[in-house]
This record gives sequence, C-alpha cells and structure tokens, in this order.
Amino acid sequence: MKITGVTLYQYNIPLKAPIAISLGTIDAARNMLVRIDTDAGLTGWGEGSPFWMIVGETQASGLAAAQDVAGLLIGRDPLAIEHCLQAILRYLPGHPTTRSAFDMALYDLTAKAANMPLYQFLGGANRTLVTDETIYINDPERMAEDARRIEANGGEAIKVKLGTTAQDDLDRLAMIRQVIRYETPIRLDANQGWDVPTARAVLSKLGDWNVEYCEQPILKSNVPGLRLLRQQTNVPIMADESVFDAVDAIRLVREEAVDYLNIKLSKSGGIYEALKINAVAEAANMACMIGCMSESRLALTANAHFAAARQNIRLCDLDACFEHAEDPVLGGIVYDGYQITIPDVPGIGAEVDPVFLANCTSVHIG
Ligand SMILES: [Mg+2]
Repeated sequence: MKITGVTLYQYNIPLKAPIAISLGTIDAARNMLVRIDTDAGLTGWGEGSPFWMIVGETQASGLAAAQDVAGLLIGRDPLAIEHCLQAILRYLPGHPTTRSAFDMALYDLTAKAANMPLYQFLGGANRTLVTDETIYINDPERMAEDARRIEANGGEAIKVKLGTTAQDDLDRLAMIRQVIRYETPIRLDANQGWDVPTARAVLSKLGDWNVEYCEQPILKSNVPGLRLLRQQTNVPIMADESVFDAVDAIRLVREEAVDYLNIKLSKSGGIYEALKINAVAEAANMACMIGCMSESRLALTANAHFAAARQNIRLCDLDACFEHAEDPVLGGIVYDGYQITIPDVPGIGAEVDPVFLANCTSVHIG
C-alpha cells in the first residue's frame, strides 16, 4: 500500500464560553485535521489540538510544518508505521501535536487495513471508560455552581482548575466542597501556576476534602520540586506538562517525583510514543490517566481507543468536547452521561461531517 495524497484542514470549533486555566484563556478550538489517502482506497483521519501555552505550537505553525511532513509521506507504505513516524520525528522533533495528527491517521489506516477497531489492533479489549468533567478558573460561586451541576448529572469525579493564589484557590475549593457530597472526589490541576511554597500551603490544607490527586502543581521543569511536594504533603502528585515523551517518564520514575502520569496524544506525538510512556509507568507500578486538550470527538475517540487498549490507564479525562458549541464528528465515541462507549468498527471509527469540512480551509499535497 502506498500513500498517494494528504489533505490538511484548518479545523475550527467554537466554544460555548472561553476556557480559563492558570496559563491563559482560549476562546475557540483552533485544531487541525489530517486526511491520508492511499492507492488501496483506504483513508486515515487524524486530529491535533495545538494548545500553544503547553506544546508551543499553534494551528498556523502546525499546518505549515504539516505541509512539509505530508511531502515526506507521499509514496511511503502507511502500514510501516514506525518507519513513517521515525521519518516525521527526524524532520520535526518539535510540534508534538502536529505529529500526533499524522500518527493518528496512520494508526486509523493500519487498523482499517487489518479490519479491526483501533483498540483491538493495539491488543486491547473494548471497555467502558468513565470520564470526569473539568471546572475552569472562575469566581468561587460560579465554580461551585458548575460542581453542583456536574454532580447532579451523575459525575463521579470533578476536576478543578486552580493555580492562582493560595487564598483564592482555597476559597474556590472550600465553596465547591460545600455544595457536593463528600464521596465525590475532587481532582486538582494547577497547570504549573504555583511555586513550591504556594503548592505546599494549598496541598497541606486539604486533609478532609477528598482530593484524589493534584496535577502539575509547579513548573514543568522543576522535577526536584515535584518530588519534594510528594514527600511533604499527603496529596498524590500527577505529572502532566512534565511528561511529553518516554524520556520524561523515565526521569520522573527515576527521581520518584510523581505518583501518576497524564498521557495526552497531543503531547506525546501520538499513540506510538504514548504506548512507550505507559510501558515505562506500568513497569514502575505507576498508573496513568488519559487526558486531552480541546479536541473534537475524532481525536477524543483515538485517545479512548488507546486508553482502552492498556489496563494501566486507569483514570480518564476526556471531556474536551463538552465545552464545544458544535460537534461536527460522525461516528466515534458515545457519551452516556460520563460513560464512554468506543465504536466497534475498523480503525478509529470517526470522521468529520463533509458538510462541515466544505467550509474549512484546506490544502492538498500529493
Ligand atoms: Mg493538566
């Protein structure tokens, strides 16, 4: 089989409302789509959601780089996934989200060629995932209102974005904790917003608030600081921005810096590297979470296949599309409340509605 063409799409999805985290605010999901065509008539789809404050790439830089990457792939056999991905990585060591869109499209194609759903192609079983829902930074009353709504909708876990000042963040948590049942765990994510003393001040005051863990309390490069917080507080620590690839995972394991890893295909450069990160974590007896940026249900479905394929991925945060004002995806994962069902058709099993795509700017290479 040979790759005959690649089409790149500017894939913009409006949000219901702007999303604020400690690193900044986004007002739309400015994503990219990759479609790979072959001489066998099979087509692969991949999506990237470049969250520039975390991955350092934008839709524009990603699409520019993607044109060169597409040129590298024309004429190659897409079933030789590793060969294709090594060629991409050598050319483009940065831009993990852009690389992940190509990785996803190649896995979609190969699983289709094998006539298997992607989770099965990866060696897994179809299992139901249960996602949390995220509350973004706002005033405490508004965040408490969101928490109450999520619990009323049947949410089993609530993820709370923090990372401002210790007092403001504690006020937010106190108000949220007042309005939800004690049994509903709270997951924290400071997105690097605290320094070590601030993180220690917040995390040491959460004794009876049923906090499941804290994601990325401090700067991603401060691995010794993560280790210190892990030793000095009772809240389990999860790396997110500190772990992009398997080399990062090895360092975090070696330095005993964290309790969990948050894997996102948009950070790892796709499924191929994500499997390696999980393998490192699993060997170190460390569970992983599957997470997301602002993907539509296409990339969320690919993330769900990957998570279903590895039992060590025990926590799930695949809620990005809850914030989208439009869902242009046909097929894909189905949400029943917070339960996610993965499609049992070959490949990822999701495509973007051609009517929506007709209005997206695109470029064809090949
Ligand atoms: Mg995070």
